[in-house]
Amino acid sequence: MQTIQNYINGTFEDPLSGDWLDNYCPANGEVYGKIPNSDQADVDKAYEAAKTAFPEWSETTLDHRSRLLLKIADLIETNLQRFAEAESQDNGKPVNLAKSIDIPRAASNFRFFAHAITQFSSESHESVGLNAINFTLRQPIGVVGCISPWNLPLYLFTWKIAPALAAGNCVIAKPSEITPLTAFLLSELCTEAGLPKGVLNIVHGLGKTTGQAIIEHPGIKAISFTGGTTTGAHIARTAAPLFKKLSLELGGKNPNIIFADCDYDAMLETTLRSSFSNQGQICLCGSRIFVETSIYEKFKADFVSKVKVLKVGHPSESGTNIGALVSQSHLEKVMTYIEEAPQEGGKILCGGHAVSVKGFENGYYLEPTVIEVATDTCKINQEEVFGPVVTIMPFETEDQVLDMANKVKYGLSATLWTNDLKRTMRLSKKLEAGIIWVNTWMLRDLRTPFGGMKSSGVGREGGFEALRFFTEAKNICIKY
Ligand code: NAD
Repeated sequence: MQTIQNYINGTFEDPLSGDWLDNYCPANGEVYGKIPNSDQADVDKAYEAAKTAFPEWSETTLDHRSRLLLKIADLIETNLQRFAEAESQDNGKPVNLAKSIDIPRAASNFRFFAHAITQFSSESHESVGLNAINFTLRQPIGVVGCISPWNLPLYLFTWKIAPALAAGNCVIAKPSEITPLTAFLLSELCTEAGLPKGVLNIVHGLGKTTGQAIIEHPGIKAISFTGGTTTGAHIARTAAPLFKKLSLELGGKNPNIIFADCDYDAMLETTLRSSFSNQGQICLCGSRIFVETSIYEKFKADFVSKVKVLKVGHPSESGTNIGALVSQSHLEKVMTYIEEAPQEGGKILCGGHAVSVKGFENGYYLEPTVIEVATDTCKINQEEVFGPVVTIMPFETEDQVLDMANKVKYGLSATLWTNDLKRTMRLSKKLEAGIIWVNTWMLRDLRTPFGGMKSSGVGREGGFEALRFFTEAKNICIKY
C-alpha cells in the first residue's frame, strides 16, 4: 500500500484530521494507496511555513534560485523511469507516453523557468522635461496557490510551481486527488535538491476540502488554477471578494478544421494524435473535426480505418495506444455522451464500447470512438467530453466552418489544415481561441503565451506571461 503524505515545511506529514482517501489504479480498478484529505488546519500550517520562508526566499539571488530549479530538473530526469511508471499507475496513461512527454516536460518546465527568470526584465521611463525617472520593480507576490488537474499530472503541476518559485514566491500546491503520486515523489526531489523548507508545500486532498481551504485563505494572494470550467467559475466567485490575482486555465472543445488543399497524409497522422492522445483527455485535443466536403468521404474512410486498429490495452504494454481512462466515474460520464449521441442524429462510425482487457477486467478502458454528427449544435459537439471520442461533419464554405467553430462556449485552441496562406491568416484572426495551430498540433514552445478565451479561461501562462502573473509590478518615480 502506497501512503502519500503532505509536504509541509520540508517534512512529510499525515493530515491533522486523520482523514484519508483511497487512491485507485485505473488500469485494474484496484485501490493501491491512500492520500491525505487535508483540511483548513493543514493549509493553515502550510501557509505559516510558506509565510516564514518567504522573506529569505524572495531575497535569494536569481543565480541561486536558478541553480536550485535546474537541480530539480536534473533529478526528475534521473528518475524518469520511476516517475513515468508512477504517472501511468495513477492516471492510466501508457508508460511510454509518460516517459516521452509528461515527465520530460516536467523537467523542461523547471529548466525553462530557471533560465527565464535570469532574462526577465522590467521597464524604465525617463519623464523628459520633468526631471524624473520611472522604473518598475517586479516583486514576488508572497504566498501563492497552485491547483492542478489529473490529466497531465506532473506536467501541469510543475508548469505552475516552477514559474511561481522562480519569481521568488513561496507556494502551496495541490495536485488532483485522483493523481497525487508524482507530486508526492517530486517533494522528495525538492528536499534532495536543497530547496529550503517552507518554500514549496504540497497538500493533498479533495477539491471541496483542501482546494477550498486554499482558495478561501486570506493570506494566499494569487491562485493559478487549471481544471474544469465549473470549478474555475467557483474559484473566481470565491476569490473575487478577497481580491486575489487569478489565472484560470479551463476546459476546451476545440475545432480541427481540415481543408482539401492540406498535406493529407500529415493531417491524417496528426489528427489521429490530436483526437486520441492520452485517451483524448487533453484540454487541447481537437474533439470536433470539420472536413471540407470534397474530401469528406475519403477522410471518413481513412480515419475510421486507422482508428479501428489503435490498440486499447494495459498502460505498461509497449504496443498500447490507448490506456485506461482516469476513473470509473469518468468512464461512465464519457459513455453517457456516446449513448445519448444517436438521439440527436449522431452515427457511431467506430468504437463506442467499454473494453475488457484480459487480466485487468476491472480497469476503465474504452474504445476510441468516432461519431458522425448531423448538426454542429448537438450536445456532444457542444460539451467537453474529455475522452477518446471525436465528432466529424462536413462543411462547404470558410464562413460556414468559422461560424460552427466559434459557436461553442469554449475558446482554448483550434487546429487548421490548409496550405493557403491568405486563408490561414483570415481564419486565425477570426477564430475565437487562445492558441491556433496551423498544419500541426500541440507543438509547444514554452516561451509562447498559453491560455483560452471565453469559458476556457482568464489570463495567460507560459514564458514571461507566467512570470508577470507571479509578480506584482510596482512603479517607482524619482524626481532628480
Ligand atoms: P476539476 O476542476 O475537477 O479539478 C481540478 C483541480 O481543482 C483538482 O485539483 C481539484 O481537486 C481542484 N478543485 C475542485 N474543486 C475545487 C474547489 N472548490 N476549490 C479549489 N480547488 C478545487 O478538473 P479535472 O477533472 O481534474 O480536470 C479536467 C479539466 O481540466 C477539463 O475540463 C480540462 O479541459 C481541464 N484542463 C484544462 C487545461 C488548460 O490548460 N486549459 C489543461 C488541462 C486540463
